[in-house]
Amino acid sequence: MGKRSVLLKILKKNDKNILTLKRAKNGVEYLSFDALEKYDNIVQGFSTKIGGVSTGVYATMNLSFSREPDNREGVLENYKRMAQALGVELESFTLSYQEHSTNVRVVSAADKGKGVLFERDYRNIDGLITNERGITLGAFFADCIPLYFYDRVNNVIGLAHSGWRGTCKRMGAVMVKEMNRHFFSRAEDIIACIGPGICQDCYQVSTDVYEEFSKNFDKEDMDNIFREDVDDHFRLSLWKANEKVLKDAGIPEENIFTSNICTACNKELLYSHRVMGEKRGNMAAFMALR
Ligand SMILES: [Zn+2]
Repeated sequence: MGKRSVLLKILKKNDKNILTLKRAKNGVEYLSFDALEKYDNIVQGFSTKIGGVSTGVYATMNLSFSREPDNREGVLENYKRMAQALGVELESFTLSYQEHSTNVRVVSAADKGKGVLFERDYRNIDGLITNERGITLGAFFADCIPLYFYDRVNNVIGLAHSGWRGTCKRMGAVMVKEMNRHFFSRAEDIIACIGPGICQDCYQVSTDVYEEFSKNFDKEDMDNIFREDVDDHFRLSLWKANEKVLKDAGIPEENIFTSNICTACNKELLYSHRVMGEKRGNMAAFMALR
């Protein structure tokens, strides 16, 4: 069975599925959120390993320029293919500079190309927002959780990286706050999609992670997002935690869509830091206003 049919089977067997695997003419395969698909002015996707030119442990669609020694030319070619698949310009990409913070940058036309064609003149940015058309926001993943935001009323988009640290610091709520501060977005108008990442069964964490969360989440939430495991360890559901953060931020439950695609369970199709360690490529989440 080919990789594509394996993923299609995973997508099909769970009725909670909210993603569709798309195959572009150039062979790039990426996941698309059904809830955002119906908006003609939104471009969005989450890359898989399929359709790129990188080789070895980076095969094939590595989208990180900093995962040396994968060569820059190959990654650039991957971006060209991704741009073609999404129907955006290569010049339109603007990438995050993730350091597990909750810092958010408002992106404008002057930022186009940063991270792909030009050096980024910013650091420590885990969230990007914009209300300008023709800018493709991009962020990187290999187990951490991508968060997609779309304010249907004011036409504002946002993309965030939410690993355990970001989730603990309620990155999703920071995004809603920043969208409101800069563009007057109201939480009730926002559609939020929680993308592929590591599932609770695959994500064992130690007591210090549990303790950090307990500073920011109440007992009921803690019981919902953590499961006790052997030897003072826990299993953390980043999906459930992010869902709760977004609900607490005022996004209606019916506007929140959560993926069930685990990066570690599907290592043939997705890069996983837990499974592969540093010998791996990075996937990316993309979002743009057309
Ligand atoms: Zn898993």
